Amino acid sequence: MNSWQSFFASPCPLKLYVFHTGFIHMKGNIHFNKKSPDFKSRPVDRRFNPVYAFLVRHPKKGNLLLDTGLCGSFAEKRFGNFGWLLGRIAQARSDPAMDSVSRMASLGLAPGDLDHILLSHLHLDHPSGLPQLKGKTSAPVYVDEREAKAASGLFALFQGYIRSHLDGFVIKNYQYRSPVAPFDEVMDFFGDGSAFVIATPGHSPGHVSVLLNAENGPIFLTFDAAHRRANLEDGIPPIGDFAAGRETLVKIRRFKEEFPDMRFIFSHDPDQMGEFPLAPDPVT
Ligand SMILES: [Zn+2]
Repeated sequence: MNSWQSFFASPCPLKLYVFHTGFIHMKGNIHFNKKSPDFKSRPVDRRFNPVYAFLVRHPKKGNLLLDTGLCGSFAEKRFGNFGWLLGRIAQARSDPAMDSVSRMASLGLAPGDLDHILLSHLHLDHPSGLPQLKGKTSAPVYVDEREAKAASGLFALFQGYIRSHLDGFVIKNYQYRSPVAPFDEVMDFFGDGSAFVIATPGHSPGHVSVLLNAENGPIFLTFDAAHRRANLEDGIPPIGDFAAGRETLVKIRRFKEEFPDMRFIFSHDPDQMGEFPLAPDPVT
C-alpha cells in the first residue's frame, strides 16, 4: 500500500520555477464560494491577483510545464486572448516578457525544450499561454477527462472555458492509479514518486493539484482548489461546486495536519507574493 511517508522518504532533486505571468481581477470576492456561511463576513477585495505557471525540471524526465498562465498578448491588448465578452468580466493585465515563453527564455529554454505540459484545469487564465507554444513543441498536454468534457460543453464559454486555446495540441488524459489517503485519485506522473497529480474537484469538475516530492521537502501546488491561503485556513471553498470543493478542502487540510511542514503555493494569492522566489530563481 502506497503512503506519503514512504514517498517522502525518497525525494527527488527536482527544480521548481514559478512564472508570474500577470494579474487578474473579477468582481464579487470571486475567490470565495458564496454558499459558504462565512462569505458575507469576508471583506470585499478589489485587488488584482497574480496568475502563475510553473516549470518543473526533472533530472531524468525532462521539463514539465504546469499551467501556462496569461498569454503575452495581454501586454499589448486589453482583452489579450480572452475575447471582449470574457475579457470584460475577467480583467487581466500583463507586461512584456512576463509570459511563460519569455520566462522560459530567461532560463535558457525554448518551447521545444518542453517534454510535458499539464493543465490544472481549463478555465481561461490557465491555458491562455498555450497558443504561444503552438507548433513549437511536441509535448503532449495533460488534462483530466472530466475537465476536457466540461470545457467542450454547449455553454462552456459562460463557464470560463475558451476552447480555441487548446487548438492544435495533442490532449492526453491522466491515468489515475490507486488512492493515497486522504486523496482518492492520485497519479504518479513520472512513475518514480517525484511528482503527483491529485484530483481536487470542486472549483471545476476535473480540477487537479500537483504535489512535488522535492529534496528539501514536499511542495503542494493547490492551483484553484485553494486560490489563496485563506481558502485553506478558513475552510472556505473556491467558487464552483460548493460540496465537492469543501470535500476537497477537508482532504487537503487533513493532509496538511499530517505533514505540517508541507509548503503550499496558492494559485492567485496576492498575500503570498514575495514569499517564494520567482523565475529565473528556483523555489527548490
Ligand atoms: Zn479557475
